Amino acid sequence: MDTNALLRALPKVDRLLEREDVAALAAVHPRPLVVEAVREAIDATRADVLAGRLTTVSEDDVAARAAVAVERSSRRSLRRVINASGIVVHTNLGRSPLASSAIDAVVDVAAGYSTLEYDVESGERGSRHVHVESLLTRLTGAEAAMAVNNNASAVLLGLAGLARGKEAIVSRGQLVEIGGSFRIPDIMRESGATMVEVGTTNKTHLRDYEAALTPRTGLLLKVHSSNFRVVGFTEGVSLAELVELGAQHGVPVFEDQGSGVLIDLARFGMPGEPTMAQAVAAGADLVSASGDKLLGGPQAGILVGKWHVIEKLKKHPLARAVRLDKMTLAALEMTLRLYLDEERLFAEVPTLRMLTMSAEESAARAEKLAAALRDACGDACDVRTSPDVSRAGGGALPMADIPTTVVSVAPRTVAVNELERRLRLGTPTIVARIRDDRLQLDPRTLAPGDEPAIVAAIARALGEASA
Ligand SMILES: *Cc1c(COP(=O)(O)O)cnc(C)c1O
Repeated sequence: MDTNALLRALPKVDRLLEREDVAALAAVHPRPLVVEAVREAIDATRADVLAGRLTTVSEDDVAARAAVAVERSSRRSLRRVINASGIVVHTNLGRSPLASSAIDAVVDVAAGYSTLEYDVESGERGSRHVHVESLLTRLTGAEAAMAVNNNASAVLLGLAGLARGKEAIVSRGQLVEIGGSFRIPDIMRESGATMVEVGTTNKTHLRDYEAALTPRTGLLLKVHSSNFRVVGFTEGVSLAELVELGAQHGVPVFEDQGSGVLIDLARFGMPGEPTMAQAVAAGADLVSASGDKLLGGPQAGILVGKWHVIEKLKKHPLARAVRLDKMTLAALEMTLRLYLDEERLFAEVPTLRMLTMSAEESAARAEKLAAALRDACGDACDVRTSPDVSRAGGGALPMADIPTTVVSVAPRTVAVNELERRLRLGTPTIVARIRDDRLQLDPRTLAPGDEPAIVAAIARALGEASA
């Protein structure tokens, strides 16, 4: 058939909408999405004809295309994915999955009214800070605490509250960028504080801070290098030394710790990161951290410190702009409650469970997954297991190589890039990496029950005709 004849054979929108299979789509999907998908399917088929990719035009094929398009456009945009990357705190994938008791708490407060700002004792207006404050002070030893939208806003609020219109001194070795959009110099400018840089990239001495102190100094800031390390010829000033210097000059000290470590992780076989309690014990006036990194909770910014500092921040106009909503507060409160019982903590908080999963357990899970994949795909792929490393990710524990065993798949019916693409576009979305022409799956970051979904998705992807 020539091109004109093929174009004339393209079905009309109304004709397709009358078909039984397309009408059935409109029974389950919103009609505007179905109409749009039908138009898209016709347009895409026309483009194929004009590009010489089609020798026949069939109404059935166009209808099938519309069905695929409407399934895609009806899917929730924000939805669960399977993380087979081995990066535990994966910022692009939402950092920390929540413990099931934290999820239950979210559902409970989301479904109805709540005690968000209601004091049941007095029957009067309460404060949303109470839900996490006593847990945070208990876990860190601080006098007072509050939680805000994320750590970026915690730092912004801390700087604005303590140093707006004043100078804040920070080491050049700590002018960090996190996640591409959080940069200390930028946040400092937005807070209204004037940044005074001291020292060099690799070395900063106490005398550098001392020399920079003026009557305009409002703050000494220390930023934890949570996502990188400077190694070799380096020197920094400890928090305790900064606190001493600050006390001599009546200048408060703020440490941005980032990762949100509430217990000594070294006891559980992980690299030692400073805890919030250590910073409080060292005398910091204010300490901030993320709720969804190593803490394992929802996106939040945790602020703990001296009572008068936290009181000032609670009353600051920015506090309202960066406050937490009830669902996040519910998840944060429940996650913090789990910290009161360390056994439950490591069993229930997914981030901590994954980070401390033993090499033996990941090897056993990898072997089991590999066996199921061999069964399911037969000759269509080659499946192996091999030792590798997982990463904490999320700008945390940058130097930690966590030993793991990965499963790798070399497909024979499609290119490995195509397999990766099909898994990414499928339902559920599966995020895996390609290494040495093989698709690599790390069991460490899989939720219990993810394996059967992966096996089914790979078998499906290998069975589809090459696109
Ligand atoms: C992660 C991090 C931040 C940013 O925290 P968000 O929760 O992503 O807003 C700020 N400072 C440090 C040191 C961090 O590690």
